[in-house]
Amino acid sequence: MIKAFTSLTQQLRWPLRFLLPATLVLLFIAVLVWLPWQARAMESNERQEQLIADTLWVEQSLRFELNRSEDALASLGTELVNQPPHALIETRMSQLLNNGHELRSIRWLGADGAAIMEQGSIVPGATVTGASLTAWEYARATRASRYSEPFAISAGGPAVIDFYLPLYRGRQYVGSLAATYDLKTLLEETVPWWFAQDNAIALIDRDDRPLARRVAAGPGRGVYTHKRVLDLPGSSMILSTDSVKGPPRLLPNLLVGTVILLGLGLLASLAALWRHIARRLLAEGALRQQMAFRTAMENSLVTGLRARDLTGRVTYVNPAFCQIVGLPPEELVGKVPPMAYWAPEAMADYQQRFAAVLAGHITPQFETIFQRSDGVRVPVLIFEAPLVDSDGRQTGWMGSILDISDRKNAEELARQQQEKLSASARLATMGEISSMLAHELNQPLAAISSYTTGALNLLGRAAEQGASVDAALLKPALEQASAQARRAGQIIRSVHEFVKKREPQRQLVQLRGVVEGIATLIEMQASKHFVSIHNDIPASLPAVSADRMLLEQVLLNLTRNGIEAMQDVAPERRVLRLTGTITGGQVLVTVIDQGHGIAPAVAERLFSPFFSTKAEGMGMGLSICRTAIEFHGGTLTHCDNPGGGTLFRFALPARP
Ligand code: ADP
Repeated sequence: MIKAFTSLTQQLRWPLRFLLPATLVLLFIAVLVWLPWQARAMESNERQEQLIADTLWVEQSLRFELNRSEDALASLGTELVNQPPHALIETRMSQLLNNGHELRSIRWLGADGAAIMEQGSIVPGATVTGASLTAWEYARATRASRYSEPFAISAGGPAVIDFYLPLYRGRQYVGSLAATYDLKTLLEETVPWWFAQDNAIALIDRDDRPLARRVAAGPGRGVYTHKRVLDLPGSSMILSTDSVKGPPRLLPNLLVGTVILLGLGLLASLAALWRHIARRLLAEGALRQQMAFRTAMENSLVTGLRARDLTGRVTYVNPAFCQIVGLPPEELVGKVPPMAYWAPEAMADYQQRFAAVLAGHITPQFETIFQRSDGVRVPVLIFEAPLVDSDGRQTGWMGSILDISDRKNAEELARQQQEKLSASARLATMGEISSMLAHELNQPLAAISSYTTGALNLLGRAAEQGASVDAALLKPALEQASAQARRAGQIIRSVHEFVKKREPQRQLVQLRGVVEGIATLIEMQASKHFVSIHNDIPASLPAVSADRMLLEQVLLNLTRNGIEAMQDVAPERRVLRLTGTITGGQVLVTVIDQGHGIAPAVAERLFSPFFSTKAEGMGMGLSICRTAIEFHGGTLTHCDNPGGGTLFRFALPARP
C-alpha cells in the first residue's frame, strides 16, 4: 500500500521535477532579454531628464542675462527722465553696448517717436514698424516695459527683438528707451560652451520657425529634444534644444554585456549539467535493469553462491545457498567462521581449509559436507575463485556450491547395482563351473575312495591274519588320500572365494599375479575342452590400481569365452594365450584364442546384456567385463586374430 502511494507520488513528481527548472530557465532568459532593454530605456530617460534640466538652466541664464540688461536700461531710463547732458548719456549707452554684445542698438525716442539719440548698428532712416511698433505702443499704453515679437531686420537678415521702456516724468509721457537684441548673439553669449557642445540650441517662434541657432557640434539627432517657452513680457519665443547624441546603443553597455555573458555561461553550464544528469539517469536505469536481471538470475540459480571478504566474513549469499544450508540470509551474511553449517565431524577439515584461504591459497574445487539446520548432512561440491574489484584488487572470494546429494545417491545406487550385477554374474559363472567342480572333485574323491578302500583292505587282511598292519604299506595310501583331500579342499576354497559377496576395493595389483590366482579355475575350464593355456604376461608389467576380484572376473570371463570358442576346432589349434604390454601409460592385456571368431552380426551386439549365441549362455559375461573395465577408467575392445579366432584386449591406466 505504502509502496503504491510512493510510486504514485513519484509519478506525479516526475513532470514537476522538469517543469520547475524549465520555468526558471525560461524566466531567466526573459529577464536576460528584458534587462538590456530596460537598461537602455533607463539610460534614455536619464539623458532626456538631463537635457530638460540643462535646457531649464539655459533658459534661466537667458532670462538672467535679459533681466540684467533690463535693469541697466531701467537705470539709464531713470537718468534720461531728468535730462542729463547728452555726453553722459552717450557714454552710458556705449558702456551698455560694450557690456552686452547681444545688444545690437540702443535708441532714445522722444514722445513723438522720433529718435533723440541712438547708438549701435542702426539702419539709417528706419522707422518703427510691425511687431516693434505694437510693442512700443503697448508699452506706452500700459506704462510698463515690453518686448516685441521677434522679427527680421531685413529680408533674410538676423532675427531680433526690441525692448521698449516707456519714460514718464510724473504722469507725463516723455519718450521711450528702445533696445534691440540680436537673438543669435544672445544665444552665443549666454549658452555655455559645454552645453552647446552636446546640443543644437535654437530660438523658434510660435510656428516653429527658427529665429536663431547655435550649432557647435553638428545638427541635433532629434532623439532627445526639449522645448521651453522663454517667458518674456510681450514676446513668445521658444527655446528648443536637440541633443546631438543618438539613442544609447545596446552592446557597448558593459553591464548588459557582462550580464549576457554570464547568462550564456550559466545556460551553457546548465545544459552541461542537464546532459550529465541525463547521462547519469540513463546509466542508473541501465544499472537498475542489470541489477534486476542479476537478481532474477541469482534467484533462479540452483547453484548456491557465497562471497567472502579477505577476513573470511560472509558478504553475500543467494537464495539457493540459503536453501542448501537451511538458514536465512540474516544468519549467514556478516558472520565469520566457524559457520553454523559446518558439521562437527568435519570441523578439522574446515579449519584447515579456512586457514589456507586466509593465507591466500584456495582449493579451486573440492568436495565436503554441510550440516543443514535440521541436522541432515548435505554433500556439496565447492568451486572457489578470487573476487576482484574494478581496480583489479582482490577483495575476497566467490564460491559456487553444488548440492551433490542426488549425484552421490545415484553413484551409490549405481555402485550397488554394479555389485549386485557382479554378484549375479559370479553366481552365473559359479553355476557353469559347478558342473566342472563336480567333474574335478570326482577325481580326488575317487582317488581318496580307492586309497582308503586299499587301506581298509590292508587293515581287514591284517585282522584276519592276526598280524599287525605294515605301516610302511598303509602310510603312502593315507598320504595320497590326504593329498587328494587337500586338492579337493583347494578347489572348493577357490570357488568359495570367488563367489563371496564383497565391496569393490581398489589396490595396486599385478596382472600376472591375478592370472596366477585364478589359474586353477582357468585350468578347470581348459581341461574340460582340452585347451592349453599360455600365460605370457610378464611379471615386470607395471601394476594397475583396481579391484582384484573384478579383474579376476574379467579374466575368467574372457578366458572362458576363448576356451569355449575353440571347442570345435582341431585339437592342435586349441591354444589360449594371455599377453601383457605397456603402451603410453596404459597396461594392455590381450586374451587370444584360435576359435571360430566373431561374425559381424554377432559383433554388433557383443556387449549387449543377455546376448548369447550359446544354448546355455546367459549373455552377461562381456557386458560385465566392459562395465568393470570402464569402472577402472579403462577400455575393452576386440578384433579378429590374424591367425584365426578372436583377440579381446583391455587397457588400464598404469600405476608405477
Ligand atoms: P555368454 O558367454 O554367456 O554367451 P558373453 O557375454 O560372455 O555371454 O558372450 C556373448 C557372446 O559373444 C557369446 O555367446 C559368443 O557368441 C560371443 N563371444 C564371446 N567371446 C567370444 C570369443 N572369444 N570368440 C567367439 N565368440 C565369442
